[in-house]
Amino acid sequence: MDVAMPRRVSVFGSTGSIGRNTIELLEARGDEFQVEALTAHSNIELLCEQAVRLKAKTAVIGNDALFPELKERLRDTGIACAAGTSGLLEAAARPVDWTMIAIVGMDCLRPALEIVAQGGCVAMANKECLAAAGKLFVEAAQRSRAQLLPVDSEHNAIFQLFDPERAEWIEHITLTASGGPFRSRTLDELENVTPAQALQHPTWSMGAKISIDSATLMNKGLELIEAHWLFPVGHEKFRIVLHPQSVVHAMVTYVDGSVMAHMSAPDMRVPIAHALAYPGRMRTDTASSDLTKIGSLDFEPACEKRFPALRLARTALERNDGSATVLNAANEVAVAAFLELRLRFTDILPVIEGVLEDMAAAPDALKAPQSFDDVFALDRHARRKALEGINERIRGRQNLSHAPSAGAPTPHARKREKIA
Ligand code: NAD
Ligand code: MG
Repeated sequence: MDVAMPRRVSVFGSTGSIGRNTIELLEARGDEFQVEALTAHSNIELLCEQAVRLKAKTAVIGNDALFPELKERLRDTGIACAAGTSGLLEAAARPVDWTMIAIVGMDCLRPALEIVAQGGCVAMANKECLAAAGKLFVEAAQRSRAQLLPVDSEHNAIFQLFDPERAEWIEHITLTASGGPFRSRTLDELENVTPAQALQHPTWSMGAKISIDSATLMNKGLELIEAHWLFPVGHEKFRIVLHPQSVVHAMVTYVDGSVMAHMSAPDMRVPIAHALAYPGRMRTDTASSDLTKIGSLDFEPACEKRFPALRLARTALERNDGSATVLNAANEVAVAAFLELRLRFTDILPVIEGVLEDMAAAPDALKAPQSFDDVFALDRHARRKALEGINERIRGRQNLSHAPSAGAPTPHARKREKIA
């Protein structure tokens, strides 16, 4: 495939962890790329800095209230400004050759659908959209002939190892999980874990939401669902193995016993560079995985009793209904509540399981979504249920009088918002 230069690219979520790594790779190969649009939710300072440095044509701030400041900061630069959902959707509809989708959470779904509708190469870092609406999302990409390039390291690894022509010879596919910061602790030892402790990932440096998901292993649960939609070999063929060094990202085992493994240093610039240069390769200055320095690689079974998130995700796949949409929505709400100090770490998974059980008991509440409207409606309903579950737990606690109310953002939450 000939690739015209410079390639027109956009980065959605350019101020986040994946976004910043993408910007670094684009900057290192400046002449090869024309940046069309960069977007962020509220980190206006970094967004403007990136837009000026990369000579972007448009900068979009998700938070409407910051639009006047964006215009002021980018006055006389020639960079067009936009804000809010409409700004994101307009940027998503701009014709480009390659887009990075690195907005976190389900807020990404509307712009992601607009991006996918344009066709072209779509580097997909966001996993919540695939977990919540995987079937419909992949079908939308097929309709517009968009090339989905998985950026999540495990899925990028499988993408590199997976040959759709040889799918019938695949015995199983293994996704590795670092196990997060609490891998060797028992569930009982996690009662008083703080957000600061849960955010300390041992091998990866990532945004807050995915870091908490890694600590509960819901990240791997979401990845299991994501893998099922990206690589349709049957969900029973996916396995999860704990691998604390995060050097092997995925393995494909063939029926003859051959195992193909993908390895790299735990550095997201590797899968991003793969997606950026696809179908070619680009040189990066990431550390190589010198196995003589690493010494040994460990693999342990991932116990579903110790990591209930894996059981919840697998059950959602087995049910093949709206469970994955609900699981993802309830998880987003519970993780936000934990980060805002409204929910205990050990209550995150019980809140999600409570929502799933409640909805499974109501007739048709978990019906498989047939359209994106169904997905949004199910997502909203599950969020309301999760909030109810969280409020119940807050009320049930003795120190209620000291806990902030569940509706209003705490000072801690407002501080976090400023990060990205
Ligand atoms: P992050 O929190 O560091 O960055 C999120 C980005 O999205 C920021 O630019 C933020 O401004 C933007 N954003 C947040 N809410 C928004 C909204 N409502 N509207 C518009 N923009 C919004 O997150 P991250 O770690 O970069 O992860 C991004 C996505 O990639 C997630 O879905 C995550 O699961 C996935 N992912 C991340 C990693 C990683 O190493 N960080 C690895 C694999 C997959
Ligand atoms: Mg991953």
